Amino acid sequence: MKRTAVCILFLSLYVVSGLADSYPRQPDVDVTHYEISISLNDGSNSISGTTRIDVRIRGESSSGMWLDLAGMQVDHLRIDGDEIPFTHSNGRLSFRFGREYGRGETVGIEVRYHGTANNTGIRIGENRYGRRVFFTDNWPDFASHWFPSIDHPSDKATVDFIITAPRQYTVVANGRRILTEFLPNGFKKTRWVENTAIPTYSMAFGAAEFSVTSGIEALGIPISWYVFPRDAAAAEQKFRRTDRMLRYFCERIGPYPFEKLAHVESNTQMAAMENANTIFYSETLFYPLPVSEDPVPHEIAHQWFGNSVTPADWDHLWLNEGFATYFDALFYAQTDAPVSLEKLMAKYADRIFAYPAARSRPVIDPRLTDLMKKLNPLNYEKGAWFLHMLRGLVGDEAFFEGIRHYYGLNTGKNVWTKDFRESMESAAGLDLSAFFRQWLHQPAWPEYRLEWDWNDKDRAVEIRILQMQQTGLFDMPLDLVLSFGSREETRRIRIKDGDSRFRIPAPSPPSSVEIDPDGWVLKTVSTAN
Ligand SMILES: [Zn+2]
Repeated sequence: MKRTAVCILFLSLYVVSGLADSYPRQPDVDVTHYEISISLNDGSNSISGTTRIDVRIRGESSSGMWLDLAGMQVDHLRIDGDEIPFTHSNGRLSFRFGREYGRGETVGIEVRYHGTANNTGIRIGENRYGRRVFFTDNWPDFASHWFPSIDHPSDKATVDFIITAPRQYTVVANGRRILTEFLPNGFKKTRWVENTAIPTYSMAFGAAEFSVTSGIEALGIPISWYVFPRDAAAAEQKFRRTDRMLRYFCERIGPYPFEKLAHVESNTQMAAMENANTIFYSETLFYPLPVSEDPVPHEIAHQWFGNSVTPADWDHLWLNEGFATYFDALFYAQTDAPVSLEKLMAKYADRIFAYPAARSRPVIDPRLTDLMKKLNPLNYEKGAWFLHMLRGLVGDEAFFEGIRHYYGLNTGKNVWTKDFRESMESAAGLDLSAFFRQWLHQPAWPEYRLEWDWNDKDRAVEIRILQMQQTGLFDMPLDLVLSFGSREETRRIRIKDGDSRFRIPAPSPPSSVEIDPDGWVLKTVSTAN
């Protein structure tokens, strides 16, 4: 996703706390499928729905559970056809199954409900042209404001949408459309089927008067866009290189995980939201002309990182946002020379340096429980920098082999940061635990102070590198480059202490001494010479 504004956090010292986010998990049950039927109308912002949920028992046995559901009134709850008593309070719908179910059995739950859309989870209103539109907006845990669910990314499921709406609206949703049926009363029923398990935050449908562009494909993947008719020209500018982006990411990461890719203009609260194969973009991104491509590559990269390989825990959000941010830069640097990766990374570094909490908070930050505030330069830009530094450390070949291994092994699954570390370690043949720890669990970055002098008596350059940051030392390899007129000498040094000294013999005094001039390490350097 692309956030609209940077949130500022309170400064405080980082203390390692819990290992998982605070969502109360139900280890005995696993939702495998949602079938969500929703009726929309033009007269009001009320919706009525029936959601059928397949829950597989994965514990020894289970006789009850709860679902997240907020702001909706439940009309009935049935299990395998029988009406079942329930309690519904504080966003939690709790019930017993009526009997005990054993491991591997599936409980078929049906919840009928109604309520009024209040812009949380489902947004009904007018677009900027004054036309009525309906869009879901689930991130991070607002799916449960319009359908009962285990509304946490650790429980992914397949999903069917059966949307009944006035017939002038085109409905788009995750997956493939398998039915459009005109009903006698001026309504239309549209059914979309998503056969790949996705997180609830990424489940989405939209209904509006769309102009639809289709008939494009890349590597056999159908590409389309659904936009407000007056924004068709802007959409052409914004989305015309989708095929190139898909090809680039498939080559770098692995096969595209879904059956289609659609871009959708919407009234999402975010600048954009990567909803699985059905990416929503804010209508504010479609003017004035010419419009930029941002954040299209970022959202497409999320189809691999987020929608297919999904963090099991919100504290590991960098596995989504850091990857999407880095692969966005990789696409532009690869495709749009003279745009260079070094310059894009320098821009990311500036955003990290400008973010006050980056000095005191780590990327993986269990103490930060407000999910909206996790949309910050630590999960985005510092996550991207983490990947860039890792690539600098292990080299291109091992880095991209590790990326493909991580994706290939975890396609469709939930992951933790350690899953990524294990893939990179096996590709690089290195123990990367210290590197992961210092950059993901420790705040800030190295603030190097570089001092050097020419020792004429010994014919050597005396070099001293200090780490000035107050937040803990970093252990990093760095390129040290000595320039002698047009000749350069590069040495790889390792800086792990607060005060490191080197003596390098040389025939004459160097004209300059630099560390990491190609920008492989997130750092600041001050010099005294
Ligand atoms: Zn994102």
